[in-house]
Amino acid sequence: NLQIGIVGLPNVGKSTLFNAITKAGAEAANFPFCTIEPNVGVVEVPDHRIYDLAAMFKPKKTTPAFTRFVDIAGLVAGASKGEGLGNQFLSHIRETDAIAHVVRCFEDGNITHVEGSIDPVRDMDIINTELCLADLESVDKKKTKTAKLAQAGIKQAKADLPVLEKVYDALQNGTPARALTLSEDDLEVLKELNLITLKPVLYVLNMAEDDIADPLANKFVQAASAEAEKEGAKWVPISAEIEEEVSELDGEEAKAFLEDLGEEEPGLNRLIRTAYSMLGLINFFTVGPDECRSWTVRAGTKAPKAAGKIHSDIERGFIRAEIVSYDDLMACGSYNAVREKGLLRVEGKDYIIQDGDIAYFRFNV
Ligand code: GDP
Repeated sequence: NLQIGIVGLPNVGKSTLFNAITKAGAEAANFPFCTIEPNVGVVEVPDHRIYDLAAMFKPKKTTPAFTRFVDIAGLVAGASKGEGLGNQFLSHIRETDAIAHVVRCFEDGNITHVEGSIDPVRDMDIINTELCLADLESVDKKKTKTAKLAQAGIKQAKADLPVLEKVYDALQNGTPARALTLSEDDLEVLKELNLITLKPVLYVLNMAEDDIADPLANKFVQAASAEAEKEGAKWVPISAEIEEEVSELDGEEAKAFLEDLGEEEPGLNRLIRTAYSMLGLINFFTVGPDECRSWTVRAGTKAPKAAGKIHSDIERGFIRAEIVSYDDLMACGSYNAVREKGLLRVEGKDYIIQDGDIAYFRFNV
């Protein structure tokens, strides 16, 4: 499952958004997880296809894909100075696949801004600087160690050192690691550091309720989105307050409420979709009388590796995959009709799983 870390300055609307996520998630029927920590919220990935499949196969259990949001508190200007960012902070953020950076684009005299004024571009810069400094600390440690080993004549260390130096210099100038051109080998050197600034960032522009009909009419959204685009990052306008209100309503009520606002779906859905496309994620499905389930993989994943999501034994003993696309299945109306029409394909170990594939894996035990 996709994991997204929520960061941002205090009083920008992180908790409000996080509450909306937790409430929206609480409604989801069954989590395939055992424990959920207080700073983790889990919501379904919006995808009607899993429910269409469930309607066809009537399984005992339907399991959609989920996204985990981790609320990462504690970032303010200077957070990385002195004590450094807490270990807990770092361990939470390092586990995530992507960062949702919440930026305040609403004005409200009653809600103080830690920096004294509303200025989304400055805020983005403060947080990005802190994240660079957090990474700088980890790169520095490894660089020092590697330099010693290189001096002692260790070949691998000699090869690794320039990469660490390149990233170190960038971070010191406030350039996130993701902005550098790094080869597969470079990334391998950096892998164990789990750098925060290597993770893709999605800017969540939190604006006033009234602005949601036309986000770009808001000058703060204009400035923040332009800044995001400058670094090639995605951005999503939302109103955290609306999200919280929507999360308190049940399905039909929520729909009517959103319709009144001229919205088709909660902003949270848009956020998750954008994260999926940013990370190149797709969903495939497994179906049957026991369970219909959605699985998330990166686009370009081969069949055995996709099967490994379900169980490592299936990956190890992979023989072949029987595949039908969601569209073909829906057009045929049943699995049998798919077979009769010859639309059930037998694919080998080099087959690349496609979004919407319904897969049945044959494997040797
Ligand atoms: P955090 O410190 O980033 O977690 O911020 P919170 O979510 O606690 O929000 C700080 C305050 O701003 C709370 O009182 C929220 O109700 C309020 N707030 C959040 N989003 C909006 C918004 O879009 N408009 C207005 N006016 N207030 C908001």
